[in-house]
Amino acid sequence: MRTIHDIDTGTDMVWPEFLPGWVWLAGAGPGDPGLVTLHALSALKQADVVVYDALVDSRILGWVRTGVPTEYAGKRGGKPSPKQRDISLRLIELAREGKRVLRLKGGDPFVFGRGGEEALSLAEAGVPFRIIPGVTAGVGGLAYAGIPVTHRDVNQAVTFLTGHDQNGLAPSRIDWDAIAKGSPVIVMYMAVKHLDHIARRLMAAGRSPDEPVAVVCDASLPTQRVLETTLGEAADDVETEGITPPALICVGGVVPLRRVLDWQAGAPAPQDVFRALGRGSRDAG
Ligand code: SAH
Repeated sequence: MRTIHDIDTGTDMVWPEFLPGWVWLAGAGPGDPGLVTLHALSALKQADVVVYDALVDSRILGWVRTGVPTEYAGKRGGKPSPKQRDISLRLIELAREGKRVLRLKGGDPFVFGRGGEEALSLAEAGVPFRIIPGVTAGVGGLAYAGIPVTHRDVNQAVTFLTGHDQNGLAPSRIDWDAIAKGSPVIVMYMAVKHLDHIARRLMAAGRSPDEPVAVVCDASLPTQRVLETTLGEAADDVETEGITPPALICVGGVVPLRRVLDWQAGAPAPQDVFRALGRGSRDAG
């Protein structure tokens, strides 16, 4: 262990040393560079090479030491992308060259990020690795839209799901009836393409077409956009509004809270606060 002096946190924190021949698999958060963890920043400051994902913001990559190469190995639905196996092999190859290899992924590497698969390949190859968790888009990204994924009066459970499987098809192993019944709030990753199918499945399993839905695009970035709609209208609205990935889709009673909690929009009107809290204005005190 040693101290990395150029991370000025004002603490005497001791950072783990990034040893040559290791791979650090780190999350970079949903986009806003301020959501990068101090461990990921320390990794960026020590790495000899960075292999990064499609959703890693370029401002974050700018934090590497001068001259450190950054290699793109992103996967993006619908666009040509390197095969997962090739990415893993590249990480192994770089580590065997004795480099400190930083594999930087959007959000958290273990949440729909295939970080587990890459770590398994490293383990199989005998390459030592460290995991650095990140702020996942389904939590941090929604917070940037003023949506808490849990709220005491609304839900005691939340489900995170992916809207497509490894072949780009609608996920086939999800028990929609169970989720519709058991999870008041549903947060979907990669669900723009199959939203029509997913919304129909949820409604067929009993969820109301009037249920509030938020679609949050480019969460936490300056280009962030939020579409508020309903389960019944969501697929049409996404198409009409020309919403493209990356987007999160949140279904459930936490969505209307953003009328008050959308901190980026400034202070809400008092009547909106009362409405969102389900109270008349006379209860205000
Ligand atoms: N490991 C990542 C998820 C990777 S899957 C994480 O933990 O966040 C990629 C999907 O994540 C996108 O299709 C989108 O659904 C979601 N996503 C990631 N970053 C996002 C962002 N800034 N805004 C909206 N959605 C985002």
